[in-house]
Amino acid sequence: MTVTALRRSDVLARIGLDVDAVLLTKLVNVRYLTGFTGSNGALLLRRDGASVLATDGRYQEQARAQAPDVELIDTRMLGPDLVSAAVRAGGRRVAIERHHVTLAAYDLLLAAADGAELVGAGEVVEGLRVRKDDEEIAALQQACAITDRAFAAVLEHLRPGITEREVAWQLLSAMRADGAESAAFETIVAFGPHSAIPHHRPTDRVLERGDLVKLDFGARAGGYHSDMTRTVVCGPAAEWQRELHAQVLEVQQQCSAATVVGAVPVELDRLARRLIAGHGNDLVHGLGHGVGLEVHEQPFLGPLSGAARLEDRVPVTVEPGIYLPGRGGVRIEDTVLVGPQGAHPLTTSPRDLIET
Ligand code: ZN
Ligand code: ZN
Repeated sequence: MTVTALRRSDVLARIGLDVDAVLLTKLVNVRYLTGFTGSNGALLLRRDGASVLATDGRYQEQARAQAPDVELIDTRMLGPDLVSAAVRAGGRRVAIERHHVTLAAYDLLLAAADGAELVGAGEVVEGLRVRKDDEEIAALQQACAITDRAFAAVLEHLRPGITEREVAWQLLSAMRADGAESAAFETIVAFGPHSAIPHHRPTDRVLERGDLVKLDFGARAGGYHSDMTRTVVCGPAAEWQRELHAQVLEVQQQCSAATVVGAVPVELDRLARRLIAGHGNDLVHGLGHGVGLEVHEQPFLGPLSGAARLEDRVPVTVEPGIYLPGRGGVRIEDTVLVGPQGAHPLTTSPRDLIET
């Protein structure tokens, strides 16, 4: 059995026995379960073991090559045609990815169901994706290594006169030249007071001596993402910048050490909040998130996260930050692998304050 075939049978095992078929329409989940990487596809898993991949004419050849062990149909009405096929095969109850279906798409699925029942599948594939196998971890490591090398390369360019946009472009081109498929997400480059904005978008602001420089970026390799933030200073750091950086670094180290197998995500987030409150500030975002085929995926380390304990082989980010409006902010983020002794960092760029 192939890895993807095993994953498909896991999905069926996790879905109630009263469900005759499962329709997967979220593209990364289709990829995870088949290996198909095209931009248009949906998958039907039937209780009798049949797997049917639907995609349009542009991707027939690619789908045959990437997913040779599933049945293939050529259509642009992906979901509705798969639901019709399930009903024709005798299905009376079809599970769908309710969290990913628009109301308009639902109307079409319901019409295709022709009296059969549509029920929610829950985030069953997202749940399966949490723990990574060796091949997935290797892809994550590659994405993280590309990120580390891009950081080292861009440090040399952090001289007065360069703009945020230019630095963002240099990070992207360094990653692409080094084998990245793309950036993992829109790169954040924030100089001076802009660094106090957690998700600042790069502008034409020019770097000045004494500016904090916050870089939050990552690469995608083999479909898998990395996510790292470093905050450095252009020229010698002022005392308040040193202190801020040291505070965030300490929080990051304590939270990383607590990110062990068995830890509860919401409690890790609470720990970060408590530590940052100790410095008289608030954490304005979650402590971190899972990373994989999506740059933000389960498990989330935030105030609304569930109580499911962390397992091993789970990559997450640990990314505390303190932001002083109008002055500047520091965030330090690593993509780490949850292990029995704490978080094993996959991004390994220097964490001590760098003065360029
Ligand atoms: Zn990030
Ligand atoms: Zn992140």
